[in-house]
Amino acid sequence: MDTDIVIVGAGPSGLCLARSLSGQGIKIAVIEQQSIDAISNPAFDGREIALTQHSASVMKELGLWQFIEPQAISQLRDAKILDGRSQFEMLIPHQLSQYQELGWLISNHLIRKSAYDAVQEANKLNHDITLIPGRKVVKVNASQKIAGVVLDDQTEMSAKLVVAADNRFSTTRRMMGIATDMHDFGRNMLVCCMTHDVPHEHIAWEWFDYGQTLALLPMNPDPETGRHRSSVVITVASDEAEELMKLSSAEFSRDVKERFGNRLGEMDLVSTIHSYPLVSVYPKRLVSTRFATVGDAAVGMHPVTAHGFNFGLLGVQKLSKEILSAHRIGKDIGDPALLLRYERTHRLKTKPLFLMTRLITEIYTKESPPAKLLRKVLLHLSAKLTPFKRSIATSLTGH
Ligand SMILES: Cc1cc2nc3c(=O)[nH]c(=O)nc-3n(C[C@H](O)[C@H](O)[C@H](O)COP(=O)(O)OP(=O)(O)OC[C@H]3O[C@@H](n4cnc5c(N)ncnc54)[C@H](O)[C@@H]3O)c2cc1C
Repeated sequence: MDTDIVIVGAGPSGLCLARSLSGQGIKIAVIEQQSIDAISNPAFDGREIALTQHSASVMKELGLWQFIEPQAISQLRDAKILDGRSQFEMLIPHQLSQYQELGWLISNHLIRKSAYDAVQEANKLNHDITLIPGRKVVKVNASQKIAGVVLDDQTEMSAKLVVAADNRFSTTRRMMGIATDMHDFGRNMLVCCMTHDVPHEHIAWEWFDYGQTLALLPMNPDPETGRHRSSVVITVASDEAEELMKLSSAEFSRDVKERFGNRLGEMDLVSTIHSYPLVSVYPKRLVSTRFATVGDAAVGMHPVTAHGFNFGLLGVQKLSKEILSAHRIGKDIGDPALLLRYERTHRLKTKPLFLMTRLITEIYTKESPPAKLLRKVLLHLSAKLTPFKRSIATSLTGH
């Protein structure tokens, strides 16, 4: 089968790339190892994704936003950072940005579903996207003239360009011989939804406590009980995460209430709990011969700065802009110069925050007495520096 672009992976990044290229006379094939049911109706996976204002506008342009119920979109008005057991908080108010809120929160499975729906809608009109579910890419070939993939049923496909959107552990990136800087933090992130007594006032918390990092992402009230509701994120050593997963719902709720120092009053688990190992990945190259990476395959962020999918959308925007400008003037869409421009821009946009995130997690997980003192001093100093806080607000809004 011949096509113009093969996208490996129908996660949110792969689907958004297909959607943004549709309608321009480019034939697109998206290969996904999961079944059509899993892609068209993704299951809840615990993740509430903090989206920048920039990402919200890209999702509106791509037609995803309109497929998400307004009640499922929560306002992330302000953010605050806490350290250890101190009552001191560094607030990042939305007033430091040009918006009424720093960003938005939407469940990952709803983003995935909206990306699938947007692709279906575009395809009804343009008939240029072939989605192949239930098939795994097992081989990638690329030469100066043509690229191609082989699927697990031995189907061969050739294309001008292959794009890997197949997650941070991308097997196709590996098949292309691209090495990565990978860091395993030895910790897991537990995510779930909980209701609580004390209102969150739409403020997100990032709490670098001792022995654990906690985050609270403000959601709209629980639709059944009307109680205040948040996405709770607990980062602990992997063995402790395993123990927590074994607790009953009531035990887990009590445990989390104590972890939050009772600051939210009674807390109740209202969803399943999901556990993610913390591994950050930055490939040495984002492109190769007739091959590019997007989404987590290009930048596998530590979720603490909430930028994984936001970077995914930036990459989709940049790569599709390059591809479409080449296509419009009849140039090769697998041209090495085009791919290198994409790589350069995306690196410039993502590498500084990737490194900064590593540094923050290094500093704020150290617990020797001098490290604790340094953490406290840094937070108090930062709280006094409005330009620094404004730069965090800018990063959270994406503008
Ligand atoms: C706990 C947690 C919290 C997060 N919070 C935020 C946040 O607040 N803000 C934010 O911006 N980001 C956040 N992220 C990151 C965000 O979830 C990811 O960046 C995003 O989901 C990645 O999408 P993707 O499409 O690149 O990859 P994925 O969603 O991983 O999709 C990859 C797809 O490729 C398919 N695939 C893999 N290999 C093959 C193959 N060989 N052949 C065919 N198909 C294949 C897979 O089945 C999958 O469907 C968070 C992540 C975690 C874990």
